[in-house]
Amino acid sequence: KAKKGGRHAVVAFDPDMLGDERHRRFIERELRAALLMEELELHYQPVLGTDMAIRSHEALVRWRHQVRGMIPPAQFIPIAEESDLIVKLGEWVLRRACGDLAELGGLPVAVNVSPVQLRQADFARSFAAILQDTGTDPRAIIVEVTETVPLDAGEIAMANLAALRRLGVRIAIDDFGAGHASLQYLRGFAFDIIKIDRSYVANMGSSRIDGMIVSAVCEIARALPVEVVAEGIETQEQFNQLRLAGCSGFQGYLLGRPQPLGKPGNAVAA
Ligand code: C2E
Ligand code: MG
Ligand code: MG
Ligand code: MG
Repeated sequence: KAKKGGRHAVVAFDPDMLGDERHRRFIERELRAALLMEELELHYQPVLGTDMAIRSHEALVRWRHQVRGMIPPAQFIPIAEESDLIVKLGEWVLRRACGDLAELGGLPVAVNVSPVQLRQADFARSFAAILQDTGTDPRAIIVEVTETVPLDAGEIAMANLAALRRLGVRIAIDDFGAGHASLQYLRGFAFDIIKIDRSYVANMGSSRIDGMIVSAVCEIARALPVEVVAEGIETQEQFNQLRLAGCSGFQGYLLGRPQPLGKPGNAVAA
């Protein structure tokens, strides 16, 4: 697998190699160093409201590797989740996002939180400490929890989310519909935002049932009431259809790609 190729032996980030313990430990060491050396950065993707104005941003972590260039989160988050690294990484992400708030026009910012973080007994406490440290209003922060992992797996996770929510942090269910127990989630705990998984958005045009599911989720959301954000919008047709379905937030390459700070104009917002 990881062939020795001289001094700059480049090891490909091949997901097939995730099972390789030595490879995993290698990436983990590099990532630990990257955290210390500030090789990680956040890109921000806008979420637009029905009025086409930007209403918030989602922080998405990237690893700017000296040799391999930009590495997407799918290639290192799973490895970070195997150890305490995800906790350190998550704390770095939150701290940085809080620090960037002013530059984001004071609009709320969403951070993705791993289920591994949520299961830490002191997660809510450390989270609150970072908000306090950075002088951040909890109402400016949205926590995105992916729906693909069962929450009932731990009461600790629920307690952490409830504690954050009491502070005023909003909770979003990410990738809604991609898991096995989406409807369980709806009745399982208190949250503020549903983010419809982008597979539904991608299939809406070709699959009648996907369109119907999106409309039904929007209807349930209105009744709860919670906000519904659609992610992964790439075409005008998808955007139009989602508006008709009653979505309240819109995110996707069509409307704005994830960008580092200081590169404005990535949204079509009027
Ligand atoms: P996610 O939270 O569901 O984020 C949405 C992903 O879809 C992002 O990929 C984003 O760049 C991508 N995306 C946005 N619009 C479009 C579109 O129109 N078309 C397509 N095809 N893709 C679009 P990214 O940045 O590679 O992140 C992947 C996942 O990694 C995220 O999914 C999230 O679960 C995780 N992640 C990202 N940043 C963090 C982080 O700071 N902490 C943790 N724990 N997870 C993170
Ligand atoms: Mg997300
Ligand atoms: Mg996610
Ligand atoms: Mg998502």
